[in-house]
Amino acid sequence: MGKRIDLRSDTVTQPTEQMRRLMAKAEVGDDVYGEDPTVRRLEELAADIFGKEAALFVTSGTQGNQVAIAAWAERGDEVIVEAESHVFYYEVAGISVIAGAQARPIAGRMGAMDPEEVRRAIRPRDIHQPRTGLICVENTHNRAGGTVLPIEILQATASVAREAGVPLHMDGARIWNAVVASGIDERTWASHVDSLQFCLSKGLGAPVGSVVVGSWSMIDRARVWRKRLGGGLRQAGVLAAPCIWALTNMVERLAEDHANAKLLAERLANMQGIAVKLDTVQTNIVLAELTDAHTTADAFIAELAKNGVLATAFGPRTVRFVTHKDVSQAEVETAVDRIHETIKEFGAA
Ligand SMILES: *Cc1c(COP(=O)(O)O)cnc(C)c1O
Repeated sequence: MGKRIDLRSDTVTQPTEQMRRLMAKAEVGDDVYGEDPTVRRLEELAADIFGKEAALFVTSGTQGNQVAIAAWAERGDEVIVEAESHVFYYEVAGISVIAGAQARPIAGRMGAMDPEEVRRAIRPRDIHQPRTGLICVENTHNRAGGTVLPIEILQATASVAREAGVPLHMDGARIWNAVVASGIDERTWASHVDSLQFCLSKGLGAPVGSVVVGSWSMIDRARVWRKRLGGGLRQAGVLAAPCIWALTNMVERLAEDHANAKLLAERLANMQGIAVKLDTVQTNIVLAELTDAHTTADAFIAELAKNGVLATAFGPRTVRFVTHKDVSQAEVETAVDRIHETIKEFGAA
């Protein structure tokens, strides 16, 4: 059958040889005392790239979002979120458990909330109602298929937030994919939000780690929350070193992942039994809809795995494929053939 092709997620990417060498050599200290020079270097670099005052290295994207949310929202506040967003869908109710806040989900279009709906969702001052403590946006949007948040929508949402005096957080786990796909740089994206979280362990290929950027005071509060959650790491420079390498060397190559996703999407769109909304394929994610009513995503991905391609079920009949640095164009072509075989097996059954 040949090599297994893993399209479940860009989180499966392996650290490069260079990253491993840098890990071995990293200068380290106790980061809880603020004494790890490599973590500091990563945080300064991240703050500079995004044009923010400060940054905080965290264990994961989830931890980054949650410490950011808890840094802004108080217990009993309400947090406006997109209904399919990671912070609402995949963070195990962290908004309620950690910040002690209530989530107010608003359905978006291709992951983007209508700024006017956000405006209407902001609570008036009223003794019966919670205070709106934070608005969250996601870019790129995972469940919508890796879609880039249109910058005009972000700008309009930022004005709504500013007028109401509510902070705005961006879950930018895949902000690099948005940067490469849109040509809009990190500083421009970040200039519209008060805080932003990004992941180094996805498309950029570092083994572990995310960073939150924001103002000094926000990052100070987030640091306290990180400690409270057990995220105060000690000689974390061994983890930060490959992250610095990833930030400076791995961003531009994401264009290859985007080209591979487009190729995969176009091939799948031409197959009987599969539908793909090509307009959502803007970065490295492809959502494929199984059109045969008797084929579930779970059964399909189990069979596909036997044929040597791994994917993720993303709904009853939705399958997610993610392209990344460890899957070449030739492997994407092979994956297309194996997906085709699998579809035919289901048709025959
Ligand atoms: C992957 C992801 C995260 C964070 O995931 P971790 O596995 O906790 O690092 C956050 N938001 C979005 C949109 C993601 O895709």
